[in-house]
Amino acid sequence: MAKFDYSTQCIEDDDIQGVLEVLKSPFLTQGKKVEEFEKALCDYTGAKHAIVFNSATSALFGAYSACGIDEGDEIITTPISFVATSNMFVALGAKPVWCDVKADGNIDEALIEKLITPKTKAIVAVDFAGKPIEIETIKFIAKKHNLLLIQDASHALGSSVDEKKIGSFADMTIFSFHAIKPITTGEGGAVVTDNDEYAAKLRLFRSHGMVKKELWNSDMISLGHNFRMTEIAASLGVTQMKKLDSFIKRRNEIAFYYDERFQNEKLFLTQKIPHANISSRHLYPILLNPELHCFKEDIFKDLQAQKLGVQVHYKPIYQNSFYKERFGAVSLSVANNFYLSEISIPCHQQMSLDDAKYVANTLLSIIKKYAQKECSF
Ligand SMILES: *Cc1c(COP(=O)(O)O)cnc(C)c1O
Repeated sequence: MAKFDYSTQCIEDDDIQGVLEVLKSPFLTQGKKVEEFEKALCDYTGAKHAIVFNSATSALFGAYSACGIDEGDEIITTPISFVATSNMFVALGAKPVWCDVKADGNIDEALIEKLITPKTKAIVAVDFAGKPIEIETIKFIAKKHNLLLIQDASHALGSSVDEKKIGSFADMTIFSFHAIKPITTGEGGAVVTDNDEYAAKLRLFRSHGMVKKELWNSDMISLGHNFRMTEIAASLGVTQMKKLDSFIKRRNEIAFYYDERFQNEKLFLTQKIPHANISSRHLYPILLNPELHCFKEDIFKDLQAQKLGVQVHYKPIYQNSFYKERFGAVSLSVANNFYLSEISIPCHQQMSLDDAKYVANTLLSIIKKYAQKECSF
């Protein structure tokens, strides 16, 4: 465990015990743990179906395929995300239409409608750092224009809006269980949905498109993959789900401490969570003021030298070579600035308030040092 990493997993005795039991059982894959984990996800989010995958990337691929995203379709999406959000519909021949973000890192709902064309098929949004997107507004836009709404909630398992959990809003919602996401199965992901047809397609897509007939006979009825989750991973999912709320509570305690320490801070901004919402606080992003942008690299290196495992989320997807070559130059001002100013500081369930105090003190002293310098370009 790296105490001052921006995020880290929390594996305890019950997680280890569960895995050991699976290892000694007859089923390492395709047993009952996957079902148990899927039921826990449904119970928690309120969604009718949960289909787990071996990563959120394969879950995104499954979700986009299940709803028929195809060659020539346009998808309105956020550039401030991990590349997989766009990669998986590009893999199906669809085109990303990036919408600029707001200062909180979430898609700017006020800009979505202008980007809709007859080719638009879906809106794919990300709850950045765990902060829920403006879900009611975006749902309204999707409904008005007959578009699908897919939420890449890889950061946001356990986040909620007016006491309703993320996973109960969009046509399909994707979660990630990568090691440092809100809960972990090592690698893993899930799609939750209320739609029976999507759920059936997702199950086929995950496992070769095959259905069992009688005795040895099975039939492959659609093109599928092997994107199944193992019983070992699903066991971690089951034990981790029981602790999700306590993880989120601790992450929020750390985040509230930072919020108070930084509330009058003039040199950087923090992400504000509305009172009616809960954020999983997967990340605690700070945004340096423009006059500090030129020192970001120095600040980052100084933070690392003080053993703070900081990270930057994210380089806008359109700035990656693949996307520039495939789709040409794109430049969105808020997203560009977000990348110049963002640093994710340590915030996770393994930290104490003393740890948070150390992080805050270290951060403030480093940033104040640079605030007195003159930027030379
Ligand atoms: C982590 C992440 C993914 C990919 O998740 P994997 O489980 O690692 O495949 C996709 N989208 C977002 C927003 C993520 O943070």
